[in-house]
Amino acid sequence: RSAAARSGFDGRGVLADGTEIPLLANVGTPEDARAAAAAGAQGVGLLRTEFCFLGRDQEPSVEEQVEQYTAILASFPGKKVVVRTLDAGADKPLPFLTDTSEPNPALGVRGYRTDRAVPGVLARQLEAIARAEEATDAEVWVMAPMIATTTEAQEFARMAAAAGLRVPGVMVETPSAAVTADQILRHVKFVSLGTNDLTQYTMAADRMMGSLAELNNPWQPAVLRMVRSTVEGAREAEAEGAGPRNVGVCGEAAADPALAVVLVGLGVHTLSMSARGLAPVAAVLRSVDMGTAQALAALAVQQPSAEEAAAAVRTELSVLA
Ligand code: PEP
Ligand code: MG
Repeated sequence: RSAAARSGFDGRGVLADGTEIPLLANVGTPEDARAAAAAGAQGVGLLRTEFCFLGRDQEPSVEEQVEQYTAILASFPGKKVVVRTLDAGADKPLPFLTDTSEPNPALGVRGYRTDRAVPGVLARQLEAIARAEEATDAEVWVMAPMIATTTEAQEFARMAAAAGLRVPGVMVETPSAAVTADQILRHVKFVSLGTNDLTQYTMAADRMMGSLAELNNPWQPAVLRMVRSTVEGAREAEAEGAGPRNVGVCGEAAADPALAVVLVGLGVHTLSMSARGLAPVAAVLRSVDMGTAQALAALAVQQPSAEEAAAAVRTELSVLA
């Protein structure tokens, strides 16, 4: 039997009322991609391309990048694969791109910001992604990490279009992106909430510091309100005629089944997580309808702390079960 069959996951995320919530996988390498496809993922919601090249002191050639991305896309024929451009920073070093001596790596030149510091790398990566798309049947969406302004999103959309990539998007990992999502989504077709960084920046609490775990918790009502703001921004952009705008979550939060219900209740359309999270999340989604998910989201955002938000929702879910 396949890994998917063993886990009881049929490859679909669907609420009790039939609402579809596509469940996608986070991957970093061709091996991850094969495992995610075997586990039944409906596509990839986050390909962390920097994982293909960690520690390199030379930029990988376009040829080498095409080969890596093609190997990953090949596991998902006909499926959506969200390819994130290099998210290098002093904390995730790609020596050809990053300055490891920054005093505040989390607030430094990382993600999309490296395009200013080392021009050309992003354009070549986009070219490689476009060539890999041509070589396979996957539906490629491309997104930039660590976007803080509408102008950055607009520039990225232009660069993606210049490379022939049709579905540009950005990550929402900063409060600035969450509160300007209505503007950002006039320029790009989708956003994906990176709740790991969004939590760190909303709570001003380093995600690497275990001693700050209480603050650094995606159940924090402030973080949930950032998600809500992003969804509202997408709805505004749609109401102004922008066309359908997908809001996904690709941070670890999506793999917490109770939190996944809250995210869906806040209006998130798709959830992406490491492959082992898919079956438990699918199971809890099957147990609630959209009205219940919305009520649980409303309950969570009213709580005074992350602990109380999680406890309130988990209590309700076990009452329902
Ligand atoms: C995130 O920040 O939530 C995210 C998905 O990106 P990464 O964990 O790679 O920073
Ligand atoms: Mg991130």
